[in-house]
Amino acid sequence: MTHIPTAPDDADDRRAITPVICYPNDTLQQPDLSLYASARTDAVKIDEIRVNPRDAACFTAKAGQFFRISSIEGPQVGDLNIWNAHDLNERFYSGKSRALHGTHLTTGERMWSSFPALRPMATITTDTLGWYGMDAYGGSVHDVIGTRCDPYTGNLLSGSQYHHCCHSNLTRALSDRTGLPLHEAERHVHDVLNVFMCTGFTRDTGQYFMKASPVRPGDYLEFFAEIDLLGALSACPGGDCSTQHSSDSVPCYPLLVEVFAPPPGALQGWVSPALNGYDRSHGRATTKDA
Ligand SMILES: [Zn+2]
Repeated sequence: MTHIPTAPDDADDRRAITPVICYPNDTLQQPDLSLYASARTDAVKIDEIRVNPRDAACFTAKAGQFFRISSIEGPQVGDLNIWNAHDLNERFYSGKSRALHGTHLTTGERMWSSFPALRPMATITTDTLGWYGMDAYGGSVHDVIGTRCDPYTGNLLSGSQYHHCCHSNLTRALSDRTGLPLHEAERHVHDVLNVFMCTGFTRDTGQYFMKASPVRPGDYLEFFAEIDLLGALSACPGGDCSTQHSSDSVPCYPLLVEVFAPPPGALQGWVSPALNGYDRSHGRATTKDA
């Protein structure tokens, strides 16, 4: 049994200290959502990709285009990976996006990229589940707190060999798109944006929980691509994630990805974000290995 140490006399005082926000984000440059909305008005659909249940598919969106992920046949959650289309080393950084915006993303918030780029890759422009907010359990939708369902954790916990977890689906899709061997493609798969998934942490044990997604056919999450993107979306084997994942036992539905291009000149004044401005010297005076 775990030994719990005796609390000090001032334990309650220490617990009562008011928290401070780690990363106040009021200095973050805000996206011009009204410019994006006006550019979207006359945008035309240029591509459509159907993601089959328990499988994944890749798509591309150029800087200045929009992509939309829709629920089409039944409640279904999706695991989203995005990369710089020209450099797979620049990829979505779930942990830093969480630190900057919070546990779940919605309209006006962004998917940030890994170091050293650390720049907005995509901005959420429409979230039809934006009404959900935070429920009484502390649950909300589109989290950046989970990782992605994967066969290794399943094997660790139950000795299973299951091949259609989001991690494997994304790996196969990226391998098919890029021609990289499976094991190389796998290294580029990263922690996801859990599209439509409803999750939180239990207040008593702090454990990651999921519950039935509030998503219904017709709901969608739409993004503005800030840089040229390669995306991969997996239709999670957990379906709406109301009971379990990592198996073939729950109903699972396809997801739809659509890409829209605004007319030329519609984004007057917008520029694709530059790489992060940190000089990368890391405290070393020499510029020898710069
Ligand atoms: Zn999954």
